[in-house]
Amino acid sequence: MNPIGLATWLRRRAERDGGRPAVTFAGETLSFAALQRGVEDLADVLSACGVHPGDRVAYVGFNHSRFLTALFATARLGAIFVPLNFRFTGSELAHNIEDSGARLIMADDAHTAPVDEVREGLDIRCFLRLGAGTDGWDGVDDLLAGNQPHVEEAVVDADSPAMILYTSGTTGRPKGAILTHRNVWTSNVNWMLAVNYNADHVALTSAPLFHSGGMCVMTLPVLMAGGHVVVHAHFDAGALLDDIERYRVTSLFMVPAMMLSTSTHERFVTADLSSVRIIVAGAAPVPEPMLRLYGERGIPVSQCWGLTEATTGATFLGTDRALDKLGSCGTAGVLNEVRLIDFDGNVLTTPWVHGELCVRGDTVTPGYCNLPEATMAALTPGGWLRTGDVAYQDEDGYYYIADRLKDMVISGGENVYPAEVESVLYGHPSVAEVAVIGAPDERWGERVVAVVVLVQGAQLELEELREFAGARLARYKLPLELRIVDVLPRNTTGKVLKHELRAMTGTGV
Ligand code: AMP
Repeated sequence: MNPIGLATWLRRRAERDGGRPAVTFAGETLSFAALQRGVEDLADVLSACGVHPGDRVAYVGFNHSRFLTALFATARLGAIFVPLNFRFTGSELAHNIEDSGARLIMADDAHTAPVDEVREGLDIRCFLRLGAGTDGWDGVDDLLAGNQPHVEEAVVDADSPAMILYTSGTTGRPKGAILTHRNVWTSNVNWMLAVNYNADHVALTSAPLFHSGGMCVMTLPVLMAGGHVVVHAHFDAGALLDDIERYRVTSLFMVPAMMLSTSTHERFVTADLSSVRIIVAGAAPVPEPMLRLYGERGIPVSQCWGLTEATTGATFLGTDRALDKLGSCGTAGVLNEVRLIDFDGNVLTTPWVHGELCVRGDTVTPGYCNLPEATMAALTPGGWLRTGDVAYQDEDGYYYIADRLKDMVISGGENVYPAEVESVLYGHPSVAEVAVIGAPDERWGERVVAVVVLVQGAQLELEELREFAGARLARYKLPLELRIVDVLPRNTTGKVLKHELRAMTGTGV
């Protein structure tokens, strides 16, 4: 057994580099020693609330230094951290909480209300609020024990789960990808080797921490390397430019929509960006003009490809190749393998031939929570994870993402699964049939388009449909465009032909 868990390496960092800055939030900086003290205090609170090794601790809240404290405190008890999407409605949260088996939920001020909407149906034994307790919520601040000896750090097996990260599911319900301690630290080292993170790095995290991108691309690897992470509650281009100057930020993880918004901000041309050594870009390909625009400001952009099930990065493009391998997401990480297979499962090695990209290595999830069939479908017996992404290689072995087999729209970095949106839209009385597709969008990368066949004689406006669906779906999943058609193209088994639909509606490939 290897007993190195998340809590272990953070503690060792604190023992070694206690005085160095670890996390800054809203102008307040915690050293590694202070972060570790916060982790020990919160672990005591969680333990007093009945959290034991193997228990699942759900967390819903905006990005904050306390988010990281909660993650490490959960790990200190040998429990499993389940961060939830703060954009979710009550019913979406309820599904993930129940599925994960969490008996304790922690929420920040802004997110007790959506949990309260569904709390009756939840099998939660402790509702814990950051700050003081109120209205049926215990308060972390009220439960802090003071100067008593701390609960001991649990000895965990590195192959036991550290987190469950929910990704949207093709069946319409989110799937919880289990990530072990080994998955996380292997991924951290993979990133360190790809990006050369070290203790001099100052990363700025404004992508959501509940997502593997916000958490695993930069935040955890930079902390493990002894660097400093500046956390923003959410993405704001002006605040990002201000803090790059203020903290001399060296590294940022951004999705293309964030890069666009930052590059069109009035301060982009005048801000001092000389400290920035790298932007790691993922979730979707970065358009060439954007790469050039950042290049002109002296900022190298490294495109990477990955997914939650592989603890983020699986291919990495060095900044030195950013312009001569335009559009590529690079080559395999040092600690993982990738390969392409055809539809019969044969391995493809010929350049320019499209196939499904697969990943193998210690960064790959052991499976989904409560979904043995989905796990078997995703993980082949040889340990290869099928990703549902279609790619090809050039003659130098650089990978390019071409398409997605999985029916998924990525809008502003958030995954939207059409099946989930369709099941809600079907409930609208004017909708006879509906298919949801993605269309290229300058701002969001892709936008959600609802293609609807109306009930005879009915009428429907986009706003009405959005309002109807808004009660059950997070905002980013709501259609930004409504197309009314007479009939949906289907194959002989009745499956909607989405490629044809895109061509028919002129919404892209
Ligand atoms: P998630 O699990 O939410 O991180 O989503 C992972 C998915 O995002 C992948 O399976 C891809 O479909 C997509 N993705 C990630 N990185 C890239 C990239 N560099 N280019 C194109 N698609 C990407």
